[in-house]
Amino acid sequence: MLARHRTFVVACLLAWASSLAVFAAAPAAAAEKIPGHAYLGTERYVEYLAGDLPIVLTSPHGGRLKPDSIPNRTEGATDIDANTQELARSLADEFFLRTGHRVHLVASHLHRLKLDPNREIKEAAAGNATAERAWTEYHAAIRGALAAAVARHSFAFLVDLHGHAHPIARLELGYALDAKQLNRTDTAFDSAGLIAVSTISDLHTRLGGSAATLLRGPTSLGALFAARGYRATPSPADAQPGDGPFFSGGYTVRQHAGGATPQVDGLQIECHRVGVRDTPENRAKFARVAAEVLTLFVEAHYPFTFPAPAKK
Ligand SMILES: [Zn+2]
Repeated sequence: MLARHRTFVVACLLAWASSLAVFAAAPAAAAEKIPGHAYLGTERYVEYLAGDLPIVLTSPHGGRLKPDSIPNRTEGATDIDANTQELARSLADEFFLRTGHRVHLVASHLHRLKLDPNREIKEAAAGNATAERAWTEYHAAIRGALAAAVARHSFAFLVDLHGHAHPIARLELGYALDAKQLNRTDTAFDSAGLIAVSTISDLHTRLGGSAATLLRGPTSLGALFAARGYRATPSPADAQPGDGPFFSGGYTVRQHAGGATPQVDGLQIECHRVGVRDTPENRAKFARVAAEVLTLFVEAHYPFTFPAPAKK
C-alpha cells in the first residue's frame, strides 16, 4: 500500500515537473512578437509596438493617463514632456515609410504624475503596486525589444526620447556623460577614458579611434542634426555643453545601453519645444530629419544597411 502510494506521489511529482517545464518554455515562445503589432500591458499602461529593425525607441514621459487608482507622486519631476510620445510615433512612422520595416517602440501611457519610468523603481512608482507593475512591464518590454533586435541584427540602438525646457534651444544628446565630463578638450576627454562609462562604449570598443570624434566629430549624431538645421550638443559647433543645465542621459539609457550591455548602444535625445515638438508640422519635419540622421549614423558605424521599401 505504502509502495503504491509512493509510486503515485512520484508520478504526481513527475507530472508537476513536466508541467513546470512546459510553463517555463512558454515565455520564450511568447517572445516572438509580430512587427507592426501593438502589445499592451496590464490596464494598457504600457504599449510595445514590435519591430524588425535594429532601432528601439522609448517614450517614458509623454503619457497622459491619470487614473485615480494610482496616487500622485509627490517627489521628483512630475511634468509631462509634451508631445514626445506623438514625436516618437512620427519617428516610427517615418522609418516605416523609408524602409517598409518597423523600429521597436515602447511607450508609457501613464502621466509622469503617476509613474516616471525613467527612474529606478522606488522613485518611479513611489511604492504603489500598480505603478510598480507598469514600471516592470515597461522595462521588460525594452529588454524584449533589445533582445529581439540583437537576435536579428547582432546589435541594437536605443533612442530614449524626451523634451526639455532649458534656456538654450538645442538638442541635448545624452550618452551618460555629464557637462563636466564633456567640457574637456578632445585630447583630455580621450585620455580620461570616459567613453567606457558612456552609452556608446560597445560601439567605441569595436571601432577604436578617438572617442571625442565618435561623440562630436563630423559623423557624430550631433553633427548630422546640426547640418540639417537642428542645433545639438555635443556636436562640432557645440562640442561642450558649457555651464548651463544639460541632461546627460537618465536611468533608461544607463540601464539598457550602459557599459554592461554588449551589443546595445544608444542615447537619450532631449528635444527643445519650438520647431521640434510644438506642432504636428514641426514634429513631422523633425521626424523626417531624425530618421535620416539615425539611418546615416547607424550605416556609418555598423555593418548594416537599412532596407528600401518594396516596390508596389
Ligand atoms: Zn523626460
